[in-house]
Amino acid sequence: MSGGYMKFSNVQLQRLVELGLEEGLERDFDCGRQRDDSFRQLARGLEKNNKAALDRLQQGLRPDIKLLEEKLLHTLRAEGYAEVSTPILMSKGLLQKMGLTPEHPLWRQLFWVDKNKLLRPMLAPHLYHLLRHLQKLWDGSVMIFEVGPVFRKESKGQEHVEEFTMLNLVSLGCTNPDEQLRLMVDKLFGQFGKTYSLVCAPSEVYGETTDVVIRGLEVASAAVGPHALDANWEISGPWFGMGIGLERLAMAVGDYSNIRRVSRSLSYQNGARLNI
Ligand code: ATP
Ligand code: MG
Repeated sequence: MSGGYMKFSNVQLQRLVELGLEEGLERDFDCGRQRDDSFRQLARGLEKNNKAALDRLQQGLRPDIKLLEEKLLHTLRAEGYAEVSTPILMSKGLLQKMGLTPEHPLWRQLFWVDKNKLLRPMLAPHLYHLLRHLQKLWDGSVMIFEVGPVFRKESKGQEHVEEFTMLNLVSLGCTNPDEQLRLMVDKLFGQFGKTYSLVCAPSEVYGETTDVVIRGLEVASAAVGPHALDANWEISGPWFGMGIGLERLAMAVGDYSNIRRVSRSLSYQNGARLNI
């Protein structure tokens, strides 16, 4: 048989993608019956996987993305980082200290709550603010992290959502920030069984960042200082910091191509579609 004249219908494709099929969508069939049989078989297998992911929640296990977060937090604590917690609402004044002005591309991505308040688009301004106080109180060396929601208006597809979870760590007063950053990257990302690489990238805020990339996907951005912005926050000394997108990491670890599966959602929980 020559075959190859029939493909999955659009409705079938949509359903398979919804159920989480990542590869093998481009198939050729000899006839409609063969195609529909193949669709039903594939869909059943995927439904089973989705149900299993929801069963794990029902059994009291935490969602996979929370397990990743726990691993990262455990590593950070073992390295001596202290956990901090800052407001989700941010004052407009802090944007300016971060070098963000209305001309800046990120400005168009801000969710304003009122004239002077917005939902934080990043954790760095609040962490910078804490560093100033803690540097005085903790004799110069400060290692802190925060994990929590951040918000950016986005129009891009599969790798961006408008609310996501940032884990931001910073180590101020270290001796060799470049080297220590690389060590920290290995400690944090070496535990997921995925190959990662470091890539230099231009940054709208820091000028340049070092990105952690897994299979072409940026999962984290890191920067080192002293940096020109430090003076605005009255801190001094060498530092390195890194912002990890937890949904991006969950995508990379779970081999997902759609970030919505692992984001805060009413359609998915624990990577599983709810209408199965
Ligand atoms: P990108 O270039 O992919 O839009 P970015 O460089 O603007 O990301 P950063 O400001 O470096 O993002 O934020 C730190 C991390 O937060 C990124 O490395 C990424 O993992 C994650 N992240 C950024 N924007 C989003 C988003 N809209 N949805 C989910 N995760 C995001
Ligand atoms: Mg980045």
